[in-house]
Amino acid sequence: MEFRRVRGMRDLVAGDAERARCVEEALVDAMRSYGYEEVRLPLLEASELFSRGVGEATDIVEKEMYTFLDRGGKQLSLRPEGTASCVRAGIEQGLFHRRSRRLWYAGPMFRYERPQKGRFRQFDQVGAEVFGVAGPEAEAELVQMVWSIWDRLGIADGIALEINTVGAGRSRQAFRDALVAFLAPRADALDADSRRRLDTNPLRILDSKVPSTRALLEGAPELHDFLDDLDKVHFDEMRRLLDELRMPYRVNPRLVRGLDYYTHTVFEWVTDGVGAQDAVCAGGRYDGLVESLGGRATPAAGFAIGVDRVVLLASETQGKIDYRPVDAYWVVLDRRFMGRALDMAQRLRDSVPGLRVRTDTAGGKPAAQFRRADESGARWALIVGEDEIARDRVSVKWLREEREQAMLPFEELGAALRTTC
Ligand code: ATP
Ligand code: MG
Repeated sequence: MEFRRVRGMRDLVAGDAERARCVEEALVDAMRSYGYEEVRLPLLEASELFSRGVGEATDIVEKEMYTFLDRGGKQLSLRPEGTASCVRAGIEQGLFHRRSRRLWYAGPMFRYERPQKGRFRQFDQVGAEVFGVAGPEAEAELVQMVWSIWDRLGIADGIALEINTVGAGRSRQAFRDALVAFLAPRADALDADSRRRLDTNPLRILDSKVPSTRALLEGAPELHDFLDDLDKVHFDEMRRLLDELRMPYRVNPRLVRGLDYYTHTVFEWVTDGVGAQDAVCAGGRYDGLVESLGGRATPAAGFAIGVDRVVLLASETQGKIDYRPVDAYWVVLDRRFMGRALDMAQRLRDSVPGLRVRTDTAGGKPAAQFRRADESGARWALIVGEDEIARDRVSVKWLREEREQAMLPFEELGAALRTTC
């Protein structure tokens, strides 16, 4: 019997895992540098949290959740996204009282989808949420933070930002009514999902990718014609800030989040670098969510980045994810010196933080050890043998450069090994 991984699940091994980690670290560093704090949330929640927090009439809740009864008969789901849990935890832990909060989370999400390039059933998201700030500066700064992430990863050129406003309150309701009035007599021409959503979640129809539905929508009323002054001020101010920050963007009037608790700004970063999957990050303002999940009304905005798609993009657009498991490889010519080698390796790690140091503990002939040193990708072989011990030195062999081997006192080693990782 041979075990295989479950469809849509992946093993990230060796280099792939390390490259994903490099990307995650860049994302986390950026969020920390903006003063965001980590929250760690459960992978399992009551299914109800998502049907309310993500919305009944969404693909996620209608078709994509991994839902089951536990042994006590409770209906649970593997989390398909992070925002609902974040809000649930914030309410439960009293995080939203009288102050603003900036939180980030990272980890796997689960959706039962058709697996393909850039689309998996378990995938990683990194997200950030800011609570308690009502003005458009919250969204502007979130956008600035995400741009800084693309910049740091060297992929900003391959990504475009689209923004839109979905208004709030009465203007949204008026548009919703107008949209239904336009579509209802034409319902026969809609695809089946959209027809169903005419009753449950008509705004979501604007997001449909079905060509016939898109064609029908050409003549539909435009949300922008329904915005009131407050909606416009919010959106204009947000755009003014983005302009001042010299952030390039495109207004896409079709970009929507279909649910009532989304308000004002929505945004999405798109690319053509990940096959058919074009969104690498999505977010916006959701002033109504905290209240709809049972908390006190709290303005909020946030985004989620699809880490796996960012990794794919970064690896494809340029080999910018510079990853090497080992920088310095200790070759121990005689097993008698193993204790000395292990000790020096540790002191080297202490004196050059971040340096990746491996000691050859497999042993064998020097030629075998040098071969392993080379295969490890290391830049330097550090050699301890009879001669070195007698003279209290270490030999350095440059594995990737034409350079004469040198014998140095241990104390000078750190300075000699300038590393880039
Ligand atoms: P899509 O339209 O691609 O299905 P979505 O609107 O369902 O995306 P969100 O719920 O907004 O996606 O999630 C935020 C980000 O998470 C997406 O922009 C994408 O990068 C990533 N993502 C979503 N679903 C998957 C998946 N199944 N596999 C890998 N990444 C995903
Ligand atoms: Mg989806």
